[in-house]
Amino acid sequence: MLSKSPYLKLFCVCFFAVFLCAAVSFGADSPEKLRSLIVDGQNNHPWAEVTPVLKAILEKSGRFTVDVATSPKPGEDMSSFKPDFAKYDVIVMNYTGDEWSAETQQAFEKFVAEGGGLTIVHAANNAFPNWKEYNLMIGLGGWGGRNEKSGPYVYWEDGKVVRNTEPGHGGSHGPGWEFLIELRDEEHPITKRLPKAFRHCNDELYDRLRGPAENFTILATAYADPDKGGTGRHEPMLMVIDYGKGRVFHIAMGHAGQQCKSVSFIAPFERGTEWAATGKVTLPVPDDMPGVDKPTFREF
Ligand code: ZN
Repeated sequence: MLSKSPYLKLFCVCFFAVFLCAAVSFGADSPEKLRSLIVDGQNNHPWAEVTPVLKAILEKSGRFTVDVATSPKPGEDMSSFKPDFAKYDVIVMNYTGDEWSAETQQAFEKFVAEGGGLTIVHAANNAFPNWKEYNLMIGLGGWGGRNEKSGPYVYWEDGKVVRNTEPGHGGSHGPGWEFLIELRDEEHPITKRLPKAFRHCNDELYDRLRGPAENFTILATAYADPDKGGTGRHEPMLMVIDYGKGRVFHIAMGHAGQQCKSVSFIAPFERGTEWAATGKVTLPVPDDMPGVDKPTFREF
């Protein structure tokens, strides 16, 4: 019996080592899912239609778990609205509406400043025109009385970013049309290996956005054709902003559920949200990514 014991010990050590290696390599191949929180409940857009699409995109990517925090209705008491932001890797904003309590604003600022991720979808850049830190996070916004006091108009012209301080209101768009998204930064993890240009579905092309645009990079633009009611400028559509240690991804497209089912929205949205959460992108460019001719869609 005495002679068996060392062999048994060796067997146990070897078995444990193999188990440990397997666990480590399994972990490397299957990174832990990122925890995301979609914030909704008020919006001048159909938020209740958009949130399930955003949730499905993130869940089907295989990279995220998704919770939803729905605020009280407009005009109701907002003091009870206190999502536990710190539990998450990334917050997805599908909200524009009543001001949050000072406590909730501070928790949100702390979350992003300390390294949390934030994704801004379409009309979430209409929110909170008077909340200074929120506007630093989103870089550019529109409507809500935004004007030259909010910051410059920022757009793309002749290969570079223009910051135009002329007076005027912030935020406008013509009727929806199928516009082209053109990359302006092909090396950023979000846009790397995406087509240099791809067709978006019939959507509002936000123009005349203005804001502080500090620590701000334009990844892609769309030409706001004057024949389609636009400014004649190349307007920011995909943007990234550094806020403290946090990363913000801002996508100006995505008016309603149908627009969010367009792969021209899905691919940058899921990649941008992964980047906001981690600083990296592991999600592949999808096979159904559109080219320049026509948009592609998925059903959820
Ligand atoms: Zn809209």
